[in-house]
Amino acid sequence: MAQITIVGCGYVGLVTGACFARLGHQVACLDIDEEKVQRLRQGQVPIYEPGLDLLVQQGLSSGRLTFGLDVADSVPGSSFVFIAVQTPTGANGKVDMRPLVRAVQSVLPHMSAGTVLIQKSTAPIGTGQFVARLIASEQYPSVSLVVNPEFLRESTAIEDFMNPDRIIVGSSDRAAAERVAVLYDFSDCPVVVTNSNTAEMIKYASNCFLATKISFMNEIASICEHNGVDVRQVSEGMSHDRGIGPGFLRAGIGWGGSCLPKDLKALIQMSDEAGQNARLLQAVQKINSGQIRRAVRKLETALGSLEGTVIGLLGLAFKPGTDDMRFAPSLQLADALRRRGATVRAHDPVVAIDKTRGLAPYIDCYSDPYEMASEADALALVTEWPEFRQLDMGELLPRMRCPVLLDGRNFWDRRDMEDLGFTYAGFGIGSPADVAQIPSLIGIG
Ligand code: NAD
Repeated sequence: MAQITIVGCGYVGLVTGACFARLGHQVACLDIDEEKVQRLRQGQVPIYEPGLDLLVQQGLSSGRLTFGLDVADSVPGSSFVFIAVQTPTGANGKVDMRPLVRAVQSVLPHMSAGTVLIQKSTAPIGTGQFVARLIASEQYPSVSLVVNPEFLRESTAIEDFMNPDRIIVGSSDRAAAERVAVLYDFSDCPVVVTNSNTAEMIKYASNCFLATKISFMNEIASICEHNGVDVRQVSEGMSHDRGIGPGFLRAGIGWGGSCLPKDLKALIQMSDEAGQNARLLQAVQKINSGQIRRAVRKLETALGSLEGTVIGLLGLAFKPGTDDMRFAPSLQLADALRRRGATVRAHDPVVAIDKTRGLAPYIDCYSDPYEMASEADALALVTEWPEFRQLDMGELLPRMRCPVLLDGRNFWDRRDMEDLGFTYAGFGIGSPADVAQIPSLIGIG
C-alpha cells in the first residue's frame, strides 16, 4: 500500500483521495481553502456527490484519509503526489494554468527522490512536458511526471473511479507510468501507456466526442420535430449499433457542466493556435448554444412575448446527482428569460438557495415546487432529477396561470402531459400532424 498526497479537494481530488483510502492506501488530501479543509476534517463534504460523505467518514475513522493545508506535512513521505486542481478557462479564452503551476511549484521542493508527480487535472497538450521541464530546471531529476487524466463523471463519480472504462498513463518515463498504473490494479480495465502529450489529447478528444454526440442528437432532434418523428425512439434505435453505443444520445436543452464546455473551448483554442480550423468542434459548440435559443423560442411560441411573464425552472444543477452549476444550462436559460423581461423562479432538490443567490441573484428559489408553480406562466424542466417523477402534475397544473410545459430533457411523455391539459413542448418530439409538408417535399403534393 502506498503513501499518496492529493493536491486539490474538489470533485476529482476528493473522490480520488477517498477511493484510494478505501482501497487501503494512506492518503493526505490538501487544499488551500482553509474552511473546506476544516469541514472535511469533521467529515463534512462540501459538495453533493452520492456516497462521498460515507466514504470520507470511513476514511477519516480508519485513519487512512487525512486533510490538511501544508504540503510540507505530507509530500515528503509520499511516493505519489496527484495534482487535481482546477484548470478553468481564463479571461483570454485559454486555459488558466496558474492554479496548476502554483500547485506544482508548491509541492516540488518537498518531494523526495523517486516520487512520482501525477497530473490528474485536465490540461492542454504540452503541459506535462512543461512540468517535466520545470522539474528538471528546478533540479529535481529524481522526480518523474506522469499524466493520468480522470474520466469520472459527477453523480456517478465513485462508481466511475472504482470501475473505470480505461486508465491512461502518459510519461517519457515508462517505469514511472507503470508504477502509476499499478495503483489501479484493483480494476481489470484496459491500461494505455503512452507519452504525456497523447494522454492529454486522449482526455480532450474523449470529452469533445461526448459533446459531439449530444449536439449531433440535438441536430437530429430538430429534423425529427418537423417530420413527425420521436427522437427518443431514434436514439434507442441507434444505441444498439456497437459502433455508436448507448451513451450521450439524448436530445434536449444541451450540455453544460465543469468539463465539456471548457474542454471543447480549450481544444478549439489549441486547434486555432496550430493554424487549424476545428470546424466540427465549432459547430458542436454552436449547436449547443442554439439549444437555449430554441428553448426560448418554444416558450415564445406558447406565450407570445415573455415580457412580464413568470417562468419556473425545474432543476438548476447541470445534471441530476450533483450540485455543480458550472456552465449549467439553467443559468443560461434564466439569463435569456430575464433579458426578455420574464421573472425567473427555480426549484432544485439539491442545489442550495445560497449558492444560486451567489451565481444568479435574480432567480427566486423555492423549496416547494408546487409553490413555485403558483401563478406561473410556464414551467421549464432543465434538470431531469428522478425526484421530479414524484411530482403530481395534475395538482401542479391548476396552480399555474398558463398550462405551458417546456420539457428540456424529454422527461415526460408528450401525450400524458397533453391529456392532463398542458401545452407541451419537448425537443425533437414530433407528432404525426407535423408531417403535413412531407408529400410536397418528396414531390407528390
Ligand atoms: P474543483 O474546482 O472542484 O476543485 C479544485 C480544488 O483545488 C479546489 O478545492 C481548490 O481550492 C483546490 N486548489 C487550487 N489550487 C490549489 C493549490 N495550489 N493547492 C491545493 N489546493 C488547491 O475542480 P474539479 O472539478 O475537481 O476539477 C479538477 C480537475 O479535474 C480539472 O482540471 C478538471 O477539468 C478535471 N476533471 C474534472 C471532472 C469533474 O467532473 N469535475 C472530471 C474529470 C476531470
